[in-house]
Amino acid sequence: MDYEPINKIPVEKMKVRPNLTREAELVAGFDWVSLEKELQLEESVNYNLAYAAIDRHLKNQPDKVAMIWEGKSGEQEKYSFKDLALLTNKFANVLLGLGVKKGDRIFIFMARLPELYVAFFGGLKIGAVVGPLFSAFGPDPVRDRLADSGASLFITTPDLKARVEHIFKELPALKNIIIVNKNNRHPGSLGKDEISYETAMEKASPQLGKMASGKENHSIIHYTSGTTGKPKGAVHAHNALIQHYATGKWALDLHEDDIYWCTADPGWVTGTSYGMSAPWTNGVTQLVYEGGYKASMWYSLIEKYRVTVWYTAPTAIRMLMKAGEKIPAEHDLSTLRHICSVGEPLNPEAVVWGQRVFNQAIHDNWWQTETGAILIANYAFMSVRPGSMGRPTPGITPEIVDDTFNELPPGQEGNLAVRPGWPAMFRTYWNNKELYESRFKNGWYITGDRAKKDKDGYFWFIGRTDDVINTAGHLVGPFEVESALLEHPAVAEAGVIGKPDPLAMEVVKAFVALKDGFTPSDEIRRELMQFCRKKLAAASAPREIEFIDKLPKTRSGKIMRRLLKAKELGLPTGDTSTLEDD
Ligand code: ATP
Ligand code: MG
Repeated sequence: MDYEPINKIPVEKMKVRPNLTREAELVAGFDWVSLEKELQLEESVNYNLAYAAIDRHLKNQPDKVAMIWEGKSGEQEKYSFKDLALLTNKFANVLLGLGVKKGDRIFIFMARLPELYVAFFGGLKIGAVVGPLFSAFGPDPVRDRLADSGASLFITTPDLKARVEHIFKELPALKNIIIVNKNNRHPGSLGKDEISYETAMEKASPQLGKMASGKENHSIIHYTSGTTGKPKGAVHAHNALIQHYATGKWALDLHEDDIYWCTADPGWVTGTSYGMSAPWTNGVTQLVYEGGYKASMWYSLIEKYRVTVWYTAPTAIRMLMKAGEKIPAEHDLSTLRHICSVGEPLNPEAVVWGQRVFNQAIHDNWWQTETGAILIANYAFMSVRPGSMGRPTPGITPEIVDDTFNELPPGQEGNLAVRPGWPAMFRTYWNNKELYESRFKNGWYITGDRAKKDKDGYFWFIGRTDDVINTAGHLVGPFEVESALLEHPAVAEAGVIGKPDPLAMEVVKAFVALKDGFTPSDEIRRELMQFCRKKLAAASAPREIEFIDKLPKTRSGKIMRRLLKAKELGLPTGDTSTLEDD
């Protein structure tokens, strides 16, 4: 599949470009220590994400709006850096009063409410390890995470508590439950022995003694998305902030006057690294929207808040693609300057669609819960090669290695590996040191993804190692087949697996969801097969196509190919705790 590279952002969008300093920074290299100096971080004084993201702005821009919050019924609140500093101090004091200590695990189970952000940074201030949980979780994933990590404190709203309270008795380490219910907004009540957030905050002092400090102190525990198996608890350290700060500038192109919107929930790593840390370490105003997402709402929010930088995910973009080839005339999205995507491969067709509809490329970038920060990115000033994840961010050395973990030359497919030691790298998997250690081989961190690098240093995603299909000796990545299908006007989504075959070992099977207005038929099936044969090598074209209403996805929107495979083979589905509801 050949796509023309999409050149830099169109001239009329270059309000703050060309940013030569930024380009020069990337070319000339840098060192992490000078960035720490830039943020005035000192190891034993203030090396804390809460300081870097919030309190450090008290000096120069205390009144700048850090968060514009819109509730799902249209309520609006604004919080300055000073507001956040005081509220997080208070919450830190609430925690201290309850005897929470450095290293204790505290979990937040809440919709995207301002209190989620306050609890998160308040917890970090005292050195607690904070675990934000996605609010749509049922009781099982919540219990698994609290039990695995030995959490001692749980912060939630009464409605969500009602969903999970029967698990509390199975969690002996859980000591305190804090209930947030501003203006009795949520149905439900405060149980015996539970603490009212509002009452506790009213009594708490806004002055905090010394903040916990240390770049290696653990900060956040994030369970992975569960796309390939049981979610693992990746533990991060405060040191990650320096890389969020840097990649916020380099990959998201954040500037002082931006209005930034990250659509990821803080229950997933993108929602903390880039929905909290990156914008606020850069002192940028961000939008937080409590509600769920649908295309018309996204467009309204971008327009209403004059969003300039938007960080989203391929599923969201595919939903917009499904909604139409044009932005509805009633929306003026001309403020949008830079759009980025992460979480799954971004099909080239989606990049080209972005160019048509937004008049700019969508900038894909690659990273994982484990890597903690963006490691490979399409920068704003770079010409985007649709389908490529981009080039390494400064200080990062990814390479393609073979199955004995030796480097391969450009153009060859293999395992995507990274030289360990970057600041945001996970420090362990909670309770699973063995698995953690098994991810490092021959001096490389092995990501579990397959990719290739071209001669210009752009990386191209092929598939997760587990998903790669071996058909008659040819290795086929599901991504290229899914991307080819997506180019067909009838296809909304596609998920591709290897189906066992007595002769070829595996054959390529595609599950396809059609766009509204198209009905599954043998004719469309034949047409799609022919369409793929024209675009792909013979071995890669699907041998079978099955129509399906909707692909199984994680709650963060990733296609769960292992469930398609389990369905195909009639096997047990394994861990489905992160599977999206119907
Ligand atoms: P689990 O590890 O539990 O199976 P997961 O790998 O989906 O879940 P995350 O850490 O959220 O959990 O996702 C990281 C993975 O997502 C990457 O390893 C890669 O497979 C995929 N990914 C993320 N961004 C991109 C991208 N830009 N292009 C291709 N793949 C991506
Ligand atoms: Mg993973």
